[in-house]
Amino acid sequence: MKDLQQLVRPNIWSLKPYSSARDEFKGEASVYLDANENPLRDNYNRYPDPLQWTLKAKIAEVKGVAAESIFLGNGSDEPIDLVFRIFCEPAVDNVVAMNPTYGMYQVCADINHVEYRKVALNKDFSLNADRILRATDANTKIIFLCSPNNPTGNLLDKKEVEKIITSFDGIVVVDEAYIDFASEGTLMAELDNYPNLIILQTFSKAWGLAAVRLGMAFASPEIIGLFNKVKYPYNVNALTQEFVSKALDNTAQTKAWIDTILKGRSYLVGELSKNKLVEKIYPTDANFVLVKVADAVGIYNKLAEKGIIVRNRNSVAMCGGCLRITVGTEEENRSLITALQHLQ
Ligand SMILES: *Cc1c(COP(=O)(O)O)cnc(C)c1O
Repeated sequence: MKDLQQLVRPNIWSLKPYSSARDEFKGEASVYLDANENPLRDNYNRYPDPLQWTLKAKIAEVKGVAAESIFLGNGSDEPIDLVFRIFCEPAVDNVVAMNPTYGMYQVCADINHVEYRKVALNKDFSLNADRILRATDANTKIIFLCSPNNPTGNLLDKKEVEKIITSFDGIVVVDEAYIDFASEGTLMAELDNYPNLIILQTFSKAWGLAAVRLGMAFASPEIIGLFNKVKYPYNVNALTQEFVSKALDNTAQTKAWIDTILKGRSYLVGELSKNKLVEKIYPTDANFVLVKVADAVGIYNKLAEKGIIVRNRNSVAMCGGCLRITVGTEEENRSLITALQHLQ
């Protein structure tokens, strides 16, 4: 890896971040007259902890990492955008990503005026590390990987991922939004070995909290420090911090949900494989299944008429004819299967 300073935009490296009232006085006091808050309301009238230490302490325990290696943001969308703003000089630098993959990486690249280089996955959606590495040049700051990948559903081969991390001298972002549904493959234990690795996870999927908007980035304390410098001072509101803190007290619930979703996934795969409209079911390590069907647009529309909405991925690279189906409740899964039986 290059020196961090060589990778970071010079204006960000030298940035003096906004210093809030909560940053400047951190102890306990009896009279707070420092933040122009309204003292008359007795709850939610105070600015929240800008670095969310109470929440991070709980996440640190659940994930087995130091609290200093955690960044929390308004969904994963926030750390995805921040890595561009921290590392990529607009109109100069570029990033490399596998294709097909999650659409937000390209949207953030476009917003930040950063060239986005797409590298095709193999036909079976596996990762070719050498092809990714060949697409990089001196101005490549970040490589984006997604495992399990969206919309294909497969886990990437850990050896290929680690080859990219160890061979590339810039930043590697590995998006593990769906890792809770995979039986292996997280790079969390490797965080200390790879100073250029940023792992993304989220409360939106297995934790069932898409509405509260909380995403996590795990990286070296130095990289986390850069995130903290660039983020909005109060990027995670007090309601979200408290709500997710409570959810973390019941990890057994999340585990039970994951079990149920995995059973639902097996049911869907089993039933879909009996349906004549289904040409191929791609192997999945996520809470969705990508299926190739005879007529994706036609089937999408007919399901929608029955009030069943799946994701039409027909126009995504290498996904022609494909629908992406999220695992639902037992009843929802049965509705989908019944509807598809009637269409064949
Ligand atoms: C759903 C998803 C996320 C989660 O995004 P949030 O902003 O945390 O809700 C991140 N990455 C991928 C690949 C996803 O599919």
